Order: sequence, then structure tokens, then C-alpha cells
Amino acid sequence: MEMVNVKVNGIAVSVPKGSTILEAARQAGVEIPTLCYLKDINEIGACRICVVEATGARGLVTACVYPVAEGMEIQTNTARVQKARKTTLELILSTHEKKCLSCERSTNCELQKMCKDYGVEDSGKYDGDRPVYELDKSTAHLVRDNNKCILCRRCVAVCRQQYVSVIGANDRGIDTHIACAFDKPLGDVPCVSCGQCVAVCPTGALVDTDSTTPVWEALADPTKHVVVSTAPSIRATLGEAFGMPIGTNVEGKMVAALRRLGFAKVFDTDFAADLTIVEEANEFVQRVQNKGVLPMITSCSPGWVKFAEYYYPDQLDHLSSCKSPQQMCGAVIKTYYAQKMGIDPKDIVNVSVMPCTAKKFECGRDDQNAAGVADIDHVITTRELARMIDRAGIKFDLLPDEEFDAPLGDDTGAAVIFGATGGVMEAALRTANDWLTEKDNKDVEFHEVRGTDGLKEATYNIAGMEVKVAVASGIANANYIMDQIKSGTAPWHFVEIMCCPGGCVNGGGQPIQPASVRNFTDLKALRAKALYDQDEAMTLRKSHESPVIKKLYEEFFDDGIGGHKAHHCLHTTYVARKKFK
Ligand code: SF4
Ligand code: SF4
Ligand code: SF4
Repeated sequence: MEMVNVKVNGIAVSVPKGSTILEAARQAGVEIPTLCYLKDINEIGACRICVVEATGARGLVTACVYPVAEGMEIQTNTARVQKARKTTLELILSTHEKKCLSCERSTNCELQKMCKDYGVEDSGKYDGDRPVYELDKSTAHLVRDNNKCILCRRCVAVCRQQYVSVIGANDRGIDTHIACAFDKPLGDVPCVSCGQCVAVCPTGALVDTDSTTPVWEALADPTKHVVVSTAPSIRATLGEAFGMPIGTNVEGKMVAALRRLGFAKVFDTDFAADLTIVEEANEFVQRVQNKGVLPMITSCSPGWVKFAEYYYPDQLDHLSSCKSPQQMCGAVIKTYYAQKMGIDPKDIVNVSVMPCTAKKFECGRDDQNAAGVADIDHVITTRELARMIDRAGIKFDLLPDEEFDAPLGDDTGAAVIFGATGGVMEAALRTANDWLTEKDNKDVEFHEVRGTDGLKEATYNIAGMEVKVAVASGIANANYIMDQIKSGTAPWHFVEIMCCPGGCVNGGGQPIQPASVRNFTDLKALRAKALYDQDEAMTLRKSHESPVIKKLYEEFFDDGIGGHKAHHCLHTTYVARKKFK
């Protein structure tokens, strides 16, 4: 690799040719602030916060996109640089609704931090008339507040990368704002609710729809039995909201915190991930044996399901009819658990902690009410759970480790890895391999479907049958798969699709890491590692071995896997959606 020698604030470094000044500075241990730049997502050099002085360059240059050259000397903190950054921040603030006291992103806002770092007062130096925007609350999953938008366009870029592109910059000059075509509300366009735009926004312009208020109300209502369950990936990410290193598994502390918040039972959605696998593996075997529609595609990810309903409405018979683990969990709590405990399902409030904003949409879908009432009542994201823990004054890092509650608290390693791309496929392969070979196979790891690549393919020989599988994460890769299915050229039998790049560990509801971290850290890999490490340490690593699952079929779904009772509770249907209202 050809290297280039440069100096950053006098520190000599050697970096690969083609590196940007930002990357060279990082190698020299110097952090240059950025606002619009997000590696591999938004590399437009537009906000000019990252300007530096560099020999051979005319004027100040944007470090995020400007390439280094041999012998270049870079200065990142001169008086001229600092003045330019401060002026840019003052100009941004001139159109910004400054409500830091109550803003959801306060203390985790990249603009706020930068203003503090550069001593930018709310001086009103450049204040004039500014447009005032109404909040867009038209979707189940997010709220857009353009009064806090700094027009960095990270959201536009990530939505385009998701192959959805329902938002962009409308109008010009002072009236420029981010919105949908013809300023339609987001709820009237084919947004898939992935929340990736929320996860990349540096300010409070995009936030989750608040579901914490009804949860606090339910917890305060003595007539309600309020239970909570947590998705596989939450244990690998929640610690970040409390300053712990990325990839710290906080399962025990998470359970303890939920108990201290007042939930009557703390269940693990992982048991429902195991349940999903046995129902889904059974469905796959049935489709293979009965010449059903193939490839079969997983249906755990509601953003992906919504994408299929909008963009491939004529291909929905490829989707597994299994509800997602969240919805299976809710259905089992309101039927089996309610019956076992003698509680009217109407008196149970089912709260789900999810990495995913699309789950807020999913819980309101038709046909998600096995007991005649909603399977899941409220979905809070990992971020919302962290806010609730903060508000309750719980010192998260000081909590002891506690265990999930019976009877829905045990899981297998197969369920744990659901949170990473490839995890559902590997879990399904572990079960299908045992069932088709009629053996208890000791080799349970399918490494070909692991890793953070957006598209993975593998062929396995199972019981003399060649099984071709594909794993896609991110909607652009889902689109690639669907195009092949539609054209009749898809070679696969079984496909896993997750809406968010990297799977749920990178879901739109996960803790927000600033660009200074995202640009230099593989978030997806570090978070996924926490899950694979937990799987490896577990005794039970196949879903069909779970004692909870065995008991469920013995005591409740007594006509067996894929039976009538299971179908009523655990399976669903899909709808062709119109793209525009
Ligand atoms: S977006 Fe940031 S700067 Fe603006 S009000 Fe919220 S915390 Fe304050
Ligand atoms: S939620 Fe996803 S699809 Fe919808 S606007 Fe945001 S990035 Fe685009
Ligand atoms: S909504 Fe957020 S991400 Fe989108 S342009 Fe505005 S500040 Fe940037």
C-alpha cells in the first residue's frame, strides 16, 4: 500500500494514499469536529465545521473529504480555524430553536457539545426571521422537528442508502427544510419505519415517538399487571447509554433495572426467538416437502416486512407466516401466561423493549391480537429505556446482576444471536440440521452466515439435500434479493432479511453514538460480538432444546409445532400497501 507522510499540528504520521485529513488527524491523536460527515453514509463536506489549514491548499479546507498529499502540514486549531468554526456555529444557531432544557437529545447532541466546546453563546448575533415548522407526528415511530434541524442531510443520505429515499431537501435559501415530496407527512409516503434517520441525526430534530409516558402511567395503575420483555440485542447495547464500552453485555443489570422500575415480571423476548425458530424451521421443512413457495424469507424484521408490502406486494407469499419474536412473545404472555396466572388478558399491559423503531408500527398492525386484545401494548426503544432508568434515579452501573423471571425467561444461544445479521439463519440451520438428519449434531456454528457484510450466501448439504441460503441486511440488499426472486433467477431456498444494516444491533432504536465514535468504530461488529460470545458460553444452543419451548407445546400448543393452536397465536398475514396516500 502506498503511504503518504504528513504532519498534523507538528505530529508526523504516515497514512495510506487517499486518506482524508480527518483520518490522518485521527491517527495523530487529534480529533477534528464534524457535523454533516458520517463515514460511508454522508461524505458531502457541506457544513464546514471541520475546516483546517493545510499547506498546498487555498484557504481553509474541509478535513472530512480533503485528501492528504506527501509532505502536507496540517493545522487544526489555529485562531483562524477556531474563528471560522465559531462563526459557522453562530450561523447555524441563528435558525435553531434552542430548547436544550427539555430537548430529548440534550447531553447527547452533537451541536450542543460543539457550541459548548467553542464557547458559542446564544448571542443572537445573526438572528433574523426564521421559518417556524409544525412537528410531523404522522407516523407511529418518529417525530420530525425541523425547528431543530441543521440541514446536515445525514437523514437524507441514510434513507437513500436504505433504498427508500422518501425524504429530501425542499425549497431553497432560508426556507430549505427536510421533508417528503410535496411536503406530504411522512405517514403518507412509503417510509419503512426503520429509524435509521433518527439514529444518525446529530440533534433533536428526529426523535422516537414517545412511548414512555403510557408506560409510566401503566406502572402507576394498581389495576394493571405490567410486564416487560427485552429483545436479544438490548443486552449488548444498553450499557452504552450509561458510558460503558461498546459491546458490553449488561443482561443482568438490565433485568435488575427493569425490576426496580416496577415491572411485575421481566421476561426475555429470546424465548420467543426460540419459538420463532421452531415454527419457522417447521414451515420451511413443510414448504420443501410439499413443494411450497421458495425461497422462504424470514419475517422477524417489521421494517423489512413493510418494505416488502410497499415495494414487492406481488411477492408476499415468499415471507414466512410466522409473527416476529416480539409479537409471538406478546401473544404467549396474553394467552398462555394469562391463563397460567389466572389474569384477564385485558388487565395485562405488555411492554416490549426493542432496538427497532419499526416495532412501534408493528404492534399496531391488524391481526396481532391472539387473545382478542393487542399482543403488545407499548414498544420502547433501547434509548427510551435508558431515559426511564435515568429518570427513576437508578444507578445502572452499581446494579447487581439479576435473572429473568420464569416461566418465560429461559433461552438458548440460538435466540441470543438473533440480534446480529445472520443470527436468525444460523439459529434456523441449527434446528433444521437436527430435524432433517434426525441427529443431535454437535457442530452448531455456521460461520459462513456470520459477519457484518450486507449480503452473504452459503450452500449446505443437509441430509443429502443441497440447501442454498442468503442473508441480507439493509434495504438495498433486500432489494437485490427481491429483484432476483421477482425475475425468477433466485437460487436460494431460505433467505434471512433484516431491515437495518448489520441487523438489530444497529437498529434505529439503539443508543446514538456521535459521529466522532461512529466514524472510527465498527459498532455493528463490536455489538454482535457480545451476542456471539454469550451464545458460545451457553449449554443449550439450539432453539428446539429450550425447556421453555418444550413446556409451551406440552401445556398449551398441544396439537404440536405448526398445529392449529400455534397458527392462531403465532402466525400472521401480510397486506399489499399503496405507496402514496
Ligand atoms: S437539538 Fe441540541 S442544541 Fe438544539 S435544543 Fe436540542 S439539545 Fe439543544
Ligand atoms: S424511518 Fe427509514 S425509511 Fe423512514 S424516513 Fe427514516 S430512514 Fe427513511
Ligand atoms: S433532521 Fe437531523 S439528520 Fe436530518 S438534516 Fe436535520 S439535523 Fe441533519
